[in-house]
This record gives sequence, C-alpha cells and structure tokens, in this order.
Amino acid sequence: MLAAELLSAGSGRGSGHTQSAPAAAPPTAAPAQSKTAPSTLLSAADEIARQVAALRGLPQTTPVARGVLSRAEIGAKLRERIAKDYSPQEVQVESAVLKRMGLLPADADYEKLLFDLLTEQVAGFYDPYKKTLYIADWLPLDMQRPALAHEIEHTLQDQHFDLKRFSQPFKEDGDRQLARSAVVEGDGTALMLEFAARAMNLDTTKMPQMIARLGKQMMQMSMAATPALQQAPLVLRESLVFPYVAGLEFVIAHRANQPWSRIDEVFKDPPDSTEQIIHPEKYEQRERPVAITAQPLTTLAAAGYKDVRRDVLGEMLFRVWFTDRISEAAAAQAAAGWGGDRLVAYSTPGEALPAVIVLSAWDTELDADEAEQAVRKVILGLTTPGPAAGVHAGKEAAKILKDPPKGKPAAHEPAQSARGDGSGLLTRALGGRGFAVMRRGRLVAIVCGVPQGRESAVASEVLRTWQVSWTSQAPAAAPSAAPQAPPAAPTSPTINPPAGHP
Ligand SMILES: [Zn+2]
Repeated sequence: MLAAELLSAGSGRGSGHTQSAPAAAPPTAAPAQSKTAPSTLLSAADEIARQVAALRGLPQTTPVARGVLSRAEIGAKLRERIAKDYSPQEVQVESAVLKRMGLLPADADYEKLLFDLLTEQVAGFYDPYKKTLYIADWLPLDMQRPALAHEIEHTLQDQHFDLKRFSQPFKEDGDRQLARSAVVEGDGTALMLEFAARAMNLDTTKMPQMIARLGKQMMQMSMAATPALQQAPLVLRESLVFPYVAGLEFVIAHRANQPWSRIDEVFKDPPDSTEQIIHPEKYEQRERPVAITAQPLTTLAAAGYKDVRRDVLGEMLFRVWFTDRISEAAAAQAAAGWGGDRLVAYSTPGEALPAVIVLSAWDTELDADEAEQAVRKVILGLTTPGPAAGVHAGKEAAKILKDPPKGKPAAHEPAQSARGDGSGLLTRALGGRGFAVMRRGRLVAIVCGVPQGRESAVASEVLRTWQVSWTSQAPAAAPSAAPQAPPAAPTSPTINPPAGHP
C-alpha cells in the first residue's frame, strides 16, 4: 500500500526511494551542545564507509555526495522526494481506501500522520536518484555512527544492485513493494547491527539470534521514544516497522552459516511478496503469488462506480486487518496460507469513501476458511456502530473518535443478515452501505461499502468473473497459467485506469 511506500520513502520504511536509517537513538531534540560539527561528521562517515565496505564485502565504486542537514531540511527533502512519486489525489484515494476498510479512523488526517511519522523517525537518508547521502545534524556522534553505517550500506546497495529498481513504486502491488523494501532495510539493519557488535568486539558470526534480538530491542527502544509512531494507527506502525524487523529476520535466516554474498543473490532476485519475507522458506521455494486479474463489475458500473485504485494487500496487511478483531497470534495464523489477492476500489462522484472489493486466493480450503472466519469478524466490527467500530489503532488512538456514531444498538450476532446457504456468505449493512464476505473453495471475495442490497451480487460477480492464475501455487492448477502481469510502469497513471485492463 501507499502507506508503506510513503513511509519507506521517508523513514526507510519500505521502499527504496530514500532509504533511511531507523532512528536508533531517540530522535527527540538533542541539546544544542551535543551537535557535531559537519566536518567531524563527514570524516567519521569516511571512516565508517571503509569499515562497512570491508565488513559487507562490497567495495565503494564511486564517491557519494553528502550533505549535513537540520531536521527541517531533511523533512523538506523527504517531502520533495515523495511529491515526485505520489500525487495529492493518490494520497487522498489511499487514505479513503484505508478508512473504508477500518484501517484508519474516519477523521484521521492521513497525510499529516505520515509526515509527522517521517520527520519523527528520520535519522538521515540516502536518495538514489540524487546519489546523495543526507546526514542529520542533530544527533550526537556516538548515536549517529550506527545510523551512518546503515545509510552507507544503502549507498553500497545502490552502487552494486541499483536501488532505483527497488525504489520505483509498484503502485498496483504495494505488497511486492514492501517485500523489496524489507530486503533493502533488512540488509541495512543487519549490517548496522553487525557493525555495532564489532565495535563492541563481539563475534557476530556465531550469534545470529543475538543480532535479531538486539535489532528488535533497538526498534522497540526507538519506537518507545517516538510518540507519533506509538500512537499511530496500527496499519501505519506495522508498515513502518515491517521492513526493518521482518526484513532483518529474513536476512538473518538467509545469512545463517552463509557469507554476505548470499544476500547479494537475494538483491539480484528479490522476493515477490511479504509472504516470502515472513516465511523465508517460501522465498527459497519461490512460492509465487497467485495472479488475480480484475474484470469490470457490471453490478457496480450500473450504479455509476468507476475503478479508482488497484493494489495487493498481501499477507502482512491481512494480518494487520485481522488484528483489529482477533489476537495477534490468531491473526498471524489466519493470514498465513495467503496465496494472492487483488484489491480494486471503486468510487462515485460525491462519495467520500470508495467501495473496496478484494478477491483473495488461499493455499488450501482450510486456509481459506480461516481467512473467511477472520474477515467475518472484521466485517461485523465495521458494521457495528460504536466508538471502536473498525478503528484500527493503537490503544490511545481510540480517543481519536470523539463522537462515536449514534444509532442502532450493537448487533452481537451475524444472524441478522448472515445466511447459512452453504456458499460461505455473510452480508451486513450500516448506513446504507453493504458489506459481504463470500467463500468458494480456496477463494474468498470481500466487499466493503457498496450500495446496500448489492453486496452479495457484487461478491458473486467477483467470484464468477475475476481471473485467477494459480501458477506455481497448486499442482492441480493449469501448469501453463500466465505469469503475474508486470507492474505498471511508475510513470503510468493509476487513477481511473481503464476498467478491466489486463
Ligand atoms: Zn534504511
């Protein structure tokens, strides 16, 4: 999703435009006297660059331009970088999709949340388009050193593997984008931790688990010191943290008893999905996502709806979505077995929130059933009026909804509109909008926010008409299934694409 891409762009969260170091140190305003002179920072950067290149086994091939900037200046650079990749309209549509799914509170200012997080988290970043490393001037040097090692690793990644390949947004496949970010940030973070451990004379090669624990602790400390991140809706927090934490675990899994050159191979053949990051063995086996091609929905077209956005949720976002209603462990379990999905948002003029339609494919019927049960709970939450209805946020964030919608008392049972007709269908409605989940075999169709009364017709049409290529997922499926369509070129318009394009 765009959230991840924007965040990554800023804080090193994911994508690659502007890989940045996690703020390993609390990024609260450092006392003025702890500021380091730019010349001291630059000569430290030279020395760290030599150490990182030797440790990682990747020589620096060309000198990198550097700039020492204030927090405000770095914030401005980030905004500039992001504005080149995302229009305000794209940000607005992304926000509306998240709100419709209950992943953001209805009154959240998405753009402001993103930029607050970016400027809070940033400790420097590397821009592969400008081939420039931006260094924070507000951190004391001893706090700055690990962040510098992380940034310098990004410059080496760029010189050897071309980070622009990892940076161009996959606007119709945010899950693939997040997976690529996890490689970039996981490598940068693993290298940073090894650099820090070496500085303490620890033999890191024998302690991959220690490195993983150290990494998690650093992230937790960093998050604890960053109130905007702590209070951010879960979807933003997870999108922000995933490339570092899951990416680090992925890199450590592939580094076990292997040299760093094993990770070089991963850069040359990057993962396709967050599923492959969460389950490194699925990357080894190249369990590729099931390709799903949306088709125009006559049920919605008749009501004047147009296709405004396409995306892939992926295992990571399904997990986050489910965590709204079931425990974290149960959500992880329900999202596992993800095979592939396609999200399309449709809107009509004058409507604040779009209709969001998702068709998802699962490895087995049991996986599909688990996912369906979790989606049912989410939909019940979304359609139950109340202060916490569908607000997927941190503990404090429930306060954001100052005026919970008043209306019918909460419905406890799906029975009100669920039908036990054997097709695995649940329909619900709230405020004139219909929601549905319908399962057929290994496929689960999800409908959020269509005109009330059309929800089951839309779900049926999706299951009937959208094309699913099981590719490498299922031995029973056609072996000649077409490979997943390449992502749109970064310059192609993604707003109002022609309905039913291939
Ligand atoms: Zn980074």
